[in-house]
Order: sequence, then C-alpha cells, then structure tokens
Amino acid sequence: MRLALDEARRAAESGDVPVGAVVLDASGAVIGTGHNDRERSADPTGHAEIVAMRAAAAARGSWRLDGCTLVVTLEPCTMCAGAAVQARVDRIVYGAIDPKAGAVGSLWDVVRDRRLNHRPEVIAEVLAQECGALLVEFFAHRRVG
Ligand SMILES: [Zn+2]
Repeated sequence: MRLALDEARRAAESGDVPVGAVVLDASGAVIGTGHNDRERSADPTGHAEIVAMRAAAAARGSWRLDGCTLVVTLEPCTMCAGAAVQARVDRIVYGAIDPKAGAVGSLWDVVRDRRLNHRPEVIAEVLAQECGALLVEFFAHRRVG
C-alpha cells in the first residue's frame, strides 16, 4: 500500500485525482504499477487499477492475473472491479472507502456477487486514513485554486 500511495502522489502531479495501484504476483513481487491518468492521457478508462493491471498483464504476457493481488488506494469503481474479476485476480486490497462510487462493498459489491464464478478475496481499509487524506487534500486545493 505504501507503493500504491507513492503512485497516487504521482497522479496529482499531472492534475489527476490521486489514486495509485500496484499488482503483486503470488510471490509478492511487484509486476505492475499505475496511477490515475485520465486527465494526462485523456482516457476515460485511465484509472489506476486499469493502468496497473495492463502493466502486470503485459509483464506476464497474459490477460490472466490469477495468483495476483491488486492493491489500490481507493475502493474500485464498477469498471475497475469488473476488470479485476475479468483478470481473475485472487485478492483486492484497498485503502479508502468510496461511498459515492465504490463497487467493492459500498454502493455495489461487484466482486463478491455470488452469481459470479470468480470472486476475489477483499481486504478493505488498509491505511485508509492516509489514502483518503491524499484525496481530501487534492480536492481542497482544487476548490481554492
Ligand atoms: Zn475505476
């Protein structure tokens, strides 16, 4: 989660909402990192999780990320939760809860829907305060500026 937080800070440098993600393989090695780059890349799918999972899949040479853990500073949205299920990640670890758009327990629970064959394990609110503080700070500055 510390690495994901470093990534999140990088997002803010380009004016993007500070969300960061890393993908770890079964041995705990980092195989993908990413931060929200929607503004910088003008890509509606440029969420941290998508960027990190793309990098991990490229490193592996496979769309399948089974055995992997996705670590992200903010609760994933429906798109990213769906992508994590599609990638067959074993585990999702997230920081701050997103009560407005969260799809891993808050508004929806896309990844633990019992109708799905693949349901990743979820570990929520890891360093939640620190992850959330980055976002609060970012939006506070934006309002002033
Ligand atoms: Zn997302």
